[in-house]
Amino acid sequence: MSTEQARSARTEGEPLLSVENLRTSFYTDKEVIRAVDGISFDIFRGETVGIVGESGSGKSVTARSIMRLVEKPGRIENGRIMYDGEDLLDKSAKQMRSIRGGSIAMVFQDPLTSLNPVYTVGNQIKEALRLHRGLSGSKATKEAIELLEAVGIPDAHRRVREYPHQFSGGMRQRAVIAMALACDPELLICDEPTTALDVTIQAQILELLEELQEERDLGIMFITHDMGVIAEIADRVNVMYAGEIVESAPVVELFESPKHPYTQGLLNSIPGQGLDEDERLATIEGDVPTPNEDPTYCRFAPRCPKAFTECDTVHPEPVEVGDGTGRHRASCLLYPDDLPTEEAVAVHREGGQRGGDTR
Ligand code: SF4
Repeated sequence: MSTEQARSARTEGEPLLSVENLRTSFYTDKEVIRAVDGISFDIFRGETVGIVGESGSGKSVTARSIMRLVEKPGRIENGRIMYDGEDLLDKSAKQMRSIRGGSIAMVFQDPLTSLNPVYTVGNQIKEALRLHRGLSGSKATKEAIELLEAVGIPDAHRRVREYPHQFSGGMRQRAVIAMALACDPELLICDEPTTALDVTIQAQILELLEELQEERDLGIMFITHDMGVIAEIADRVNVMYAGEIVESAPVVELFESPKHPYTQGLLNSIPGQGLDEDERLATIEGDVPTPNEDPTYCRFAPRCPKAFTECDTVHPEPVEVGDGTGRHRASCLLYPDDLPTEEAVAVHREGGQRGGDTR
């Protein structure tokens, strides 16, 4: 089976996680910030879905919403988060505690936020084994050593008795992944897990995640601002901008044929993208705006080189921009591009329905 066939086989059947029209807002004295504003996407078993965008685009709030870890003044206001057929938004706090670190585990950018400096790495893995799998004593120690070996930590028998400060940055992130795996999760949410690591260690951690995914049929949601990392790890990609998903596609298609001007800008700003020596690397001028009002226009318009009058008054809806299978969608008034712009804009005014459903 080719890689492409394997990837499409993974996306058949019921998704492991289905986020539907999720909106999470933060209420401050001055304004309501719609940090995540009506996003929808699926993750299937054995699949890695990348969420990419600049700081402030809503990636981490998406992850925290799925884990129900949004703190005040934040609030999940709308949508459904279907996991294994049940809505996580209907779960009690107790049920969520058991799901978190159980069937859904999270790996953060800074391993020190997950590791307690006063306990040995082994004890922390054993605590996860006790809580989520009921293991204790020598069985838990044996399993902790096996997990450290599984994530590529050499001399695991000795290392299991060491403290986090005795581990290097890359080894700590491996230990955090071992802790996440201790709960035998089905879904791993990785929030910039390699950003703090140098490139060689980063490549090793990405490789490790791929191996573990294959062995355990894990669904992985991988958050990053780095398109290079996305190219390495993701099967499908959701590009986020100011709380919305502006483009969604299989990874190869996204890189070969980006449709949204924001995605095109992100790709043009990667070093080594076929630029001649004397050509300057492109940048997207300006910052991501704070989404603090209803989406009645294109939030990317102030930075978009292709913006036109209607971009300030019509909200772009996701429309089909690929081969008609619905796997490649973009939210931009320039599409569908087989229509004259005026008619394409009308499609968005009517909710983007011409291209099929709104997912
Ligand atoms: S809708 Fe307009 S402003 Fe927004 S990305 Fe498309 S062309 Fe640019």
